[in-house]
Amino acid sequence: MDPEILEDWGRRLRGLLVAVGLLFAILFLRLFHLQITTAADYAKESEDNRIEHRRVKAPRGLILDRDGEVLARNRASYSISLIRSNKEDDARSVAALEEAIGEPVRYHRRNSNIRLKRDVDFETVAIVEEKLRGDGYPLHVDIEPQRDYPHGDLAAHIVGYMGELQEDEAAAARVRYQPGDYVGKTGLEKVYEDRLRGIDGVRYVETDARGRIKNERPFPDRERAPLPGHDLRLTLDLDIQRAAARAMPDSLAGSVVALDARTGAVLAMLSQPSFDPNVFVSYREQDQRRQLIQDGHRPLLNRAISGEYPPGSTLKLVAAVAALEAGITDTLSTFAACAGSLQVGDVVFRCNNRSGHGELNLLDATASSCNIYFNHLALILGMETWYEYGQRFGFGIPTGVDLDPEERAGTLPDRQYHIERDGWVTGHLMNLVIGQGYMLVTPLQVARYAAALGNGGILVTPHFYGNAPPTQKIEGVTPETWHIVKLGMHRVVYGDNGTGKRARVAGIDLAGKSGTAQKPPRLNDDAWFIAFAPFDDPEIAVAVVVEDGGGGGATAAPIAGAVIEAYLADRLRRNPEMAATNDSTLSESEL
Ligand SMILES: [Zn+2]
Repeated sequence: MDPEILEDWGRRLRGLLVAVGLLFAILFLRLFHLQITTAADYAKESEDNRIEHRRVKAPRGLILDRDGEVLARNRASYSISLIRSNKEDDARSVAALEEAIGEPVRYHRRNSNIRLKRDVDFETVAIVEEKLRGDGYPLHVDIEPQRDYPHGDLAAHIVGYMGELQEDEAAAARVRYQPGDYVGKTGLEKVYEDRLRGIDGVRYVETDARGRIKNERPFPDRERAPLPGHDLRLTLDLDIQRAAARAMPDSLAGSVVALDARTGAVLAMLSQPSFDPNVFVSYREQDQRRQLIQDGHRPLLNRAISGEYPPGSTLKLVAAVAALEAGITDTLSTFAACAGSLQVGDVVFRCNNRSGHGELNLLDATASSCNIYFNHLALILGMETWYEYGQRFGFGIPTGVDLDPEERAGTLPDRQYHIERDGWVTGHLMNLVIGQGYMLVTPLQVARYAAALGNGGILVTPHFYGNAPPTQKIEGVTPETWHIVKLGMHRVVYGDNGTGKRARVAGIDLAGKSGTAQKPPRLNDDAWFIAFAPFDDPEIAVAVVVEDGGGGGATAAPIAGAVIEAYLADRLRRNPEMAATNDSTLSESEL
């Protein structure tokens, strides 16, 4: 071989060896660097970069009235959360937030993502975003849906409100809630929670140790979109609800209930005083909330279903139906003339007309609400028969309205009830037939009773949502009996001595019954009125009670009229002739 070529090979080989050697050296150095020098850094980074599981709140369904007016909706609200690290750092972050906003912060270590402050204003958002996060505190601002009730106190007792889930509720719930979640606490928000709430979604974010987002969507395939809750379109008509609220004296407590007399659909349900449900969902209104809970006028009580009142003379029609069926009276027969009082045993019962009504038949006794006539009638009727008819009209048991479990049963006392308390005397029945004594009713029970009187004895089940529940026919009462009682109620509004003239509405033929219930030790009586319209084929039934309102005919009757007018307002507008019709004047010859 040519020595020159050999030398060349030798050079090349040396060069290659040097190159390979250098390469190994570099690799070795890199390996050394990786394994020894930066090992600690790498370990730290992989520990602190983490995947967070974030819940995407499902939008809650809206609550709407029958025409689609919104009663409950969702608005965006800002909340401040803490990305948890260790106990000391968490405490430092909470303290920094408290100092920056000048308010205490509620803090409990439970979730990885803890809400510290909810529904904060823009100023607080700015402080957190610009100052605290800039200083490295692991806080972040979330936007979450917040419940909003645009009509405030107008239908507060029906719609109810939401509140933070308590631990015992979380345990009892079938679905998984998290601490701090809002759930329906009262009213329809509570009853229809499962329907309204929807199903939350899930997404993931990758963050560093300080809560800064490194990757918005590390696992798009594993995300789940939220399933919105269902809207709740109610039977309620806000126009009628507004009419009831307007007609009710502002200074007095009470309730107005309007039902569809055929189906039991609740058209209006007012309870006064009321409250603004927004106070309960906002985190800014703690003082107002405390005030409402402590208020002696009990604005949170839904008087329509939880208020228990003596019904006064509105109840006389139970005895009227019973007496007609028992053949004790007919339309025109009379009892001994009312002289203003009646002595039974040692007790003297008085009529509302102290100088006496004289001789009355059933229609006129109903119209003028003569106590003595109904006392006579009760003496013949007896306790057991009266009680049986009280039961048939649904007194003493809840109506089953879908506002359970707030609904009260009232009291329909039987003979035994009295024996167990203060012994039985006939005087108890004298009180019961005129809606006094131990008898207690809810305004909703009375509205259903009014509907049954108007619709020929169909006991409806009041409801706010969904298909009408089955109705129940009051058995054993003839159409003639229903007709006679209706005529008596017609005379209450249109008769010369009727106590309910102030319920009249131009163009609408209606019927009703007043009540003025004594409720010692209160100074003033509770004013009652029940009504249904149109007279021939009733569509709406109304019950009104005004606490301390005095006479039912004076105070409650015009409210019932205003509610009926609101219900038929469209029809009156479309038919000017109907509106111009004079008040009906049915005579006994039409019987
Ligand atoms: Zn009388």
